[in-house]
Amino acid sequence: MADEFPFEISPMFEGERVRKDSMFVELGGPKSMGLELVRAAEMDDIEDDKVTIVGPDIKEMEEGKTYPWAMVFNIGGELVESDLESVVERRVHDFVNYCQGIMHLNQRYDVWMRVSKDTAAKLDSFEAVGKAVMMLFKTELPFIEKMQVTFYTEEAAVKEQMDGAMDIFKARDARTKDLHDEDVDVFYGCTLCQSFAPTSVCVVSPDRIALCGAINWFDGRAASKVDPDGPQFELEKGECVDELGGEYSGVNEVAKRLSGGEFERIKLHSFFEFPHTSCGCFEVVGFYIPEVEGIGWINREFQGEAPNGLTFSTMAGQTGGGKQVVGFLGVGVNYFYSPKFIQADGGWNKVVWLPSTFKEKIADAIPAELADKIATEAEAPDVDALKAFLQEKEHPVVAGWSAEEEEEEEEEEEEETALEAAPMMMPAAGFQMPAMPMVSGGAGGGIKLTIKNAKISIEKMIVSEKKAKK
Ligand code: SF4
Repeated sequence: MADEFPFEISPMFEGERVRKDSMFVELGGPKSMGLELVRAAEMDDIEDDKVTIVGPDIKEMEEGKTYPWAMVFNIGGELVESDLESVVERRVHDFVNYCQGIMHLNQRYDVWMRVSKDTAAKLDSFEAVGKAVMMLFKTELPFIEKMQVTFYTEEAAVKEQMDGAMDIFKARDARTKDLHDEDVDVFYGCTLCQSFAPTSVCVVSPDRIALCGAINWFDGRAASKVDPDGPQFELEKGECVDELGGEYSGVNEVAKRLSGGEFERIKLHSFFEFPHTSCGCFEVVGFYIPEVEGIGWINREFQGEAPNGLTFSTMAGQTGGGKQVVGFLGVGVNYFYSPKFIQADGGWNKVVWLPSTFKEKIADAIPAELADKIATEAEAPDVDALKAFLQEKEHPVVAGWSAEEEEEEEEEEEEETALEAAPMMMPAAGFQMPAMPMVSGGAGGGIKLTIKNAKISIEKMIVSEKKAKK
């Protein structure tokens, strides 16, 4: 393999990072446009192994610069059908990363690549990269009989490809619109991300697209059919254990097996209770904001901070790794369109914050009555501003606050009355009162406690008299 190409090719380069100081050029990423797309085509329309470059090639690029980037692959074969496009596309990430000195992050329309100085020095053209990636595809996915690729680096051409691709992604995602979890007997699992998140359990159902956003139920079906021993597999969903949460006995069995016993239960549509694991390639992270009892969501493209002061990458670090992290959840963009979107937790009524560009992007998924009540970084850069905004807009979560405050006030009043009516019976000696604010000595042998604005939960409290030694 290594002899044919000017760089080494191996899965061991998969986790390789190309840092800024060792980078020759950046392709796509947050400062530009980055796209990858796979299209099924007729065998006769494909010139096998052909690489076309539209725009400046690597030798015409300036060191340290960022260029727009699109790679469009055409695949053909007797078993190739359009349902397989997403699944094949998801492997671009692996195979580009197998090439030494080339880093690939993300997928679909937010691809971010870097070529190291060492590798750039060995390259006369991107043609070698295209040929290497296609060789890997045909070796690993033998149902691909013919393949060609076009790399675009010229801005107008990339933009044109991007515009067309967005319609294709939208059409792919819309296919599951009329199919729901209760309509099928099987879901699909995927183990691709276990290479870096070993306990990750990835389940794709009609109402829940994969958290990488690349694989929906139809894609899982097509992939498991064409490659039954591959990473996508059929999963008997079994008995429904919790309809609202989306818990199924078959999913729980797979969760236990795939996570090596780490997780025993997964609820597909729950944010707080046995949430789906988050591997690391999620498109959006949800984060609970306890001060407002709501959930904010931050997408990968958003560079700013959420009201909790954290960026996407910081929260992604806390969320990823194949864990079940209560309070954080990684999802695919299309999950916001699901009729079962975190339905166990109140669905959209629980959403309080979104980055403005993301809110615009998924505007048609947001229920009309909530559109003005969900804040963005413009109205709510921090928690205090968010609280004020939600109150002003009468967001549904606010009703929960007043109920709780009233409950607390009522409890406080009841406690006051009880305490005053019957001073606390305290043992005469030996009881160590925990340090608490505003403890005042009471008259008549008791004490009066006034604890304001405090929440105290004590699971068990044993009060006993310590006998004095004689
Ligand atoms: S996120 Fe899930 S579906 Fe997507 S590649 Fe990873 S394991 Fe597969």
